[in-house]
Amino acid sequence: AKSEGKNNFQFFRDELNTKAHDRLLLENRIRTAIENEHFQLYYQPQIHLASGNVVGLEALIRWVDPDRGVISPAEFIPLAEDTGMIGRIGDWVIETACKDVQQMHLAGLEDIKVAVNVSAHQFRNGQHLCRVIQNALETHKLDPKYLSLELTESILIEDINETIQSLNDLKGLNITLAIDDFGTGYSSLSYLKTFPIDVLKIDQSFIRDILSDDSDKAIVTAIIAMAKQLDLNVLAEGVETMAHNDVLKEFGCDFAQGYYYCKPIPVETLIKHYAK
Ligand code: C2E
Ligand code: CA
Ligand code: CA
Ligand code: CA
Repeated sequence: AKSEGKNNFQFFRDELNTKAHDRLLLENRIRTAIENEHFQLYYQPQIHLASGNVVGLEALIRWVDPDRGVISPAEFIPLAEDTGMIGRIGDWVIETACKDVQQMHLAGLEDIKVAVNVSAHQFRNGQHLCRVIQNALETHKLDPKYLSLELTESILIEDINETIQSLNDLKGLNITLAIDDFGTGYSSLSYLKTFPIDVLKIDQSFIRDILSDDSDKAIVTAIIAMAKQLDLNVLAEGVETMAHNDVLKEFGCDFAQGYYYCKPIPVETLIKHYAK
């Protein structure tokens, strides 16, 4: 047991080196993936509950590696975020989402918005983000009303004054702004009246057991009631069953998204499926 301290230290150092090495490897692989166009966007429909119409599509990134197959964003977005690689990925996502939604409009899926996830790194570089968005909208001749950004609560509470400035800049482009994973970020509700946002996306953790868990039900109904008062729209994510769908509709939730309607799919599949 006496030598344990030293061994632990040695072990810890090796561990650190491995992590640093792994990071470097992954960073290089991300760089190569960008160059070789190994990233793909899948899209998941967002449904207007009262009409049943598809009104939006959330763009969800997939890394299709020739050797490893499909890698989910949970596996590489956090590291891409830490290393700043997310900047380039994020630019590509905005550009591609605008291009794809224009394609969908041309294929007959009119009046559909595209929703893009924005990371903390991108949000902190607000001027660059605005430029990239403006460029993409112009290049693809897309009306800004067809682009929505999803920002998590945790991003928004980092620095409130800067957040309000950045949100106002983005809102100035006439795009839609949504708070993602709403209810999980420990933010003060009072910010809702100063942030120029349009949509609250209720986190799927509140939807999952909404039929059996009275607390979840209470939270969801309260969010919907508050949103109505504040003139915000509410979108429920993780809607997996008809029962979820029915209860959310009954509660007056505006929009819903989840496996019950459709899982995320490539743009070609989407066009084939919906554009009749
Ligand atoms: P998110 O933005 O909260 O996206 C929702 C996640 O829930 C997606 O996972 C989606 O596929 C999944 N999902 C959809 N419907 C259901 C359902 O009915 N049940 C359940 N259990 N899950 C459902 P995905 O595609 O693996 O993405 C995970 C996270 O990765 C996203 O969470 C988002 O934070 C991040 N992400 C994805 N694409 C991008 C991107 O282009 N940029 C950035 N910065 N982050 C992204
Ligand atoms: Ca999202
Ligand atoms: Ca979410
Ligand atoms: Ca999430």
